[in-house]
Amino acid sequence: MHNYDIAIIGNGVLALSTAFLLLDKDSNLKIAIIGKETREGSSSYAAGAMINYIGEVTSSTLKNKFLREKLEISIQAGKNWKPWLEKINNDTPLENQVRLNDGTFVILNSLGGSLDSDNYDAIQQAAQIYQEEIQEVHPKEVPGMNPIDSCRAIKALFLPNEGSINPVALIKNIKAKLAKHNVTFYDSNAHMLKHQNNSSTITLDNNEVITGQKLLLAAGSFTQIFINQLPDIAPKIPILLAGVGISAVVSQTKPDNIQHVIRTPNRSGACGLHVLKRSESELYIGATNNIAFSPSKKQKVGLSQFLLKCAIDQIDQDIYNSEIINWRVGNRPVTIDSFPLVGKTSLENVFILAGTYRDGLHQSPMWAQYVADVMYGSKPEFEHSFKPERKLIPVLNNKEESINEVVNHYMAGLHEHRMVLPSLFPEKNFEGLLKNKFKSIYEQLSTEFPMIPDIMFLFELSENNDDNIKFFREYFKKMSY
Ligand SMILES: Cc1cc2nc3c(=O)[nH]c(=O)nc-3n(C[C@H](O)[C@H](O)[C@H](O)COP(=O)(O)OP(=O)(O)OC[C@H]3O[C@@H](n4cnc5c(N)ncnc54)[C@H](O)[C@@H]3O)c2cc1C
Repeated sequence: MHNYDIAIIGNGVLALSTAFLLLDKDSNLKIAIIGKETREGSSSYAAGAMINYIGEVTSSTLKNKFLREKLEISIQAGKNWKPWLEKINNDTPLENQVRLNDGTFVILNSLGGSLDSDNYDAIQQAAQIYQEEIQEVHPKEVPGMNPIDSCRAIKALFLPNEGSINPVALIKNIKAKLAKHNVTFYDSNAHMLKHQNNSSTITLDNNEVITGQKLLLAAGSFTQIFINQLPDIAPKIPILLAGVGISAVVSQTKPDNIQHVIRTPNRSGACGLHVLKRSESELYIGATNNIAFSPSKKQKVGLSQFLLKCAIDQIDQDIYNSEIINWRVGNRPVTIDSFPLVGKTSLENVFILAGTYRDGLHQSPMWAQYVADVMYGSKPEFEHSFKPERKLIPVLNNKEESINEVVNHYMAGLHEHRMVLPSLFPEKNFEGLLKNKFKSIYEQLSTEFPMIPDIMFLFELSENNDDNIKFFREYFKKMSY
């Protein structure tokens, strides 16, 4: 049995960043970080990672106080990135430092349906409200943009202060910093957790047993496995699901052709299409998003094909000749209400940091600082509404609004897939059919809780629709909102 001041289950960006900030407070802390080094299914490894905040805004963001709260945390995270990287790069040889590649272009084309236009307008509105720098540019001025004519952008915005970083390099560098302290990395996943007498005992897949005086659950989507083993608190914590996403890194045929992030607004239950510069010779292409009940490591052919076709048609035709360097499948940790789980639980010495969904990498310096503060017992710099034990937070007013939204997103998705309806069957009729479908899903679920479209797709586009409906019918009976 190995004993630690702090045991962390998970080794993604949030786990490592929190450990790093805990050591800032007390460099003698004895910390165990648990998780296989291959990080299969890790969200952080599959991410772009766009450091976007205004670029992430949708037409819902400004209408809801919890979404606005999250946006304000994101805006602050945006300001924290440069000092955060300075801290991580400190003492690191220049060639290994992690850089923030500044600049994001948000393009508007007609492929994502009218949803794209609404979200594009909302981005401009948010920039104005929060006085963030934004410039309108001609799409032809976006370096590297070379779409097919029928997919050309009609408008574009430039966000000079929003960019991207390389998450693999970030993780490597934080790990190197941690290795200089009393930190043990267990290259094995955990499977069993017991919490007794205010401390936690964790059994690993390689049969090693670890105790932690304090425990942080930060295993992304996989965190639910451990929450389920804490029966006193599990029923009070919104369930964690997995936003399964595929992304690719490919060669850039003309060196340094695409120099910044080029993205659409958030789209149809996903994070929007984005292509960004990983290095002069490499591009990242992201990303699909399909919510599943549990994490997946499988890469689907159809989704992979769709992702590449979108990038070739809408961003740069030359990607057709690029070489694939790697594919990744990651699981965005997302709760049923889409808000994160951050902070102390009612079990003494048990903390959670998960559920950061599609902008968790960007927000990582903020959440890691918050959790390091509460774990250490110091006053956090900010407070928030996303504690682990909480009621579900509705973003929409009622289920009718939810049905309208999901139909809107469904249509946008079908347009991106180039749906062509015969003239005798106009879009309104098709939308009517979809509305009935989602009304029936709500009836089967027997809940009034208004879910966002991304989550509603769990009951429509997943391989296990029937099982999901059965599970969540019981779930919603017990969970208040
Ligand atoms: C395709 C894609 C694109 C994205 N793009 C962006 C973006 O551009 N910008 C942005 O801000 N965010 C983005 N995100 C979201 C972001 O990646 C996440 O919000 C964030 O990285 C979550 O970090 P994490 O540490 O909680 O989870 P993870 O990175 O998933 O880390 C969890 C870790 O736990 C480990 N683990 C699993 N099981 C166990 C176990 N049993 N025991 C111990 N450890 C275990 C896993 O191997 C993994 O390494 C994207 C996500 C995806 C999937």
